[in-house]
Amino acid sequence: MEKEAVEKKVVYSETIAGQDIDAEHKALLESMERLEEENRIIGSTLNRVEEETAMLRELFNNANKELTNLKKPALLVAEVVSMIGDKAIIRLPNANKFYCYVSQNVQDVRAGDNVLVDQKTLNVVEKVHSTSNNDVEKFVIMDKPKENWKSIGGLKNEIEEVKEVIELPLKNPKLFEKVGIQPPKGILLYGPPGTGKTLLAKAVANSTDATFIEVVGSELVQKFIGEGAKLVKDIFTLARSKAPSIIFIDEIDALASTRMDTGTSGEREVNRTFMQLLAEIDGFDHLDNVKIIGATNRADILDTAIIRPGRLDRLIEVGLPDEEGRLDIIKVHTQKMNLQKVMLKKVSAKMQDFSGAEIRAVCTEAGYFAIRENREYVTQRDFEQAIEKVRLQDEDEEDGKFFG
Ligand code: ATP
Repeated sequence: MEKEAVEKKVVYSETIAGQDIDAEHKALLESMERLEEENRIIGSTLNRVEEETAMLRELFNNANKELTNLKKPALLVAEVVSMIGDKAIIRLPNANKFYCYVSQNVQDVRAGDNVLVDQKTLNVVEKVHSTSNNDVEKFVIMDKPKENWKSIGGLKNEIEEVKEVIELPLKNPKLFEKVGIQPPKGILLYGPPGTGKTLLAKAVANSTDATFIEVVGSELVQKFIGEGAKLVKDIFTLARSKAPSIIFIDEIDALASTRMDTGTSGEREVNRTFMQLLAEIDGFDHLDNVKIIGATNRADILDTAIIRPGRLDRLIEVGLPDEEGRLDIIKVHTQKMNLQKVMLKKVSAKMQDFSGAEIRAVCTEAGYFAIRENREYVTQRDFEQAIEKVRLQDEDEEDGKFFG
């Protein structure tokens, strides 16, 4: 009986102890899970902190690099005149020349290259790779023009002359060899604005299937300060690689004007660009299939060096059209217009002193007068109103009232 009671007690206390162990075990498991969760959170926080540290380190490095760069003295841009072994003769923008060392890190430096030089020692520390042929192609307008001889009204003599000087040598160079004469390397078209100089150049490029490379003189000297001369060189290289080609230099007076007295560095720069242009023209042969057409509204200020024999030595004046010329130009621009009882001769007579560009403007305006009145055809009166409008616009422009 007593033994039985003892056994019961043992079983009871074992049950109690078992229950305690279970609870403890459960509590332990729970706290372990909590700890693991906390561990996970701490782990991800650590990762984030590490990422942030890396980011901050990068920011710091960048700021430090920028600061170091900002503290560096600026480098001068110079042009290499010639190379003598591992040394170079360079020309600074103020035209002074220096003989200096070229750093071993700078490879493949040649005469004509632009380089960066240390301000104090003037040693060459870097080469400037700015005007590759790609840059030249971005700067110039290069295309195969659609304009042909039929797009030009009037200008009969001028067309004949352009054909003789540009078209014939490009199409039939052998003829010149047989006869034993040298065709001009280029021509200069001069005359008032809007008279068809660009049109002539484009038409001859079209008829000879030549690449038309258009450059504007003023842009050449303004856009690429310090690099005009190199650009001229690159333009000629490009023209040779795309031959047959025609280099059309509009506003050539911006480069080749006599009013330069090389006083300022800007004027010296223009002068250098002009010298390079002359050197390039002199550097190719009369029968090379690259031709140059210069155009200007200011022949009076042109440096005669550009029109010396062997350069742009055929001068062609492109003046304002006479009445017959105007009629021809009107015919070109009204070809596709729906006209009703328009006496083109009368229209032409009323457009005294109008340039080709103004005549085209009149035709467009006449079309607009018709559109405003909901008509699909253009009348004599539309032309008369258009002439008045263009004439008034011109007068306003001359008086400087164009922008109010
Ligand atoms: P700028 O000196 O201002 O550069 P430009 O003499 O080169 O002028 P163009 O650009 O050839 O003149 O002419 C401008 C536009 O006027 C031409 O695109 C054309 O539509 C018209 N034009 C001028 N002259 C003629 C012409 N003789 N025949 C037909 N259209 C002409």
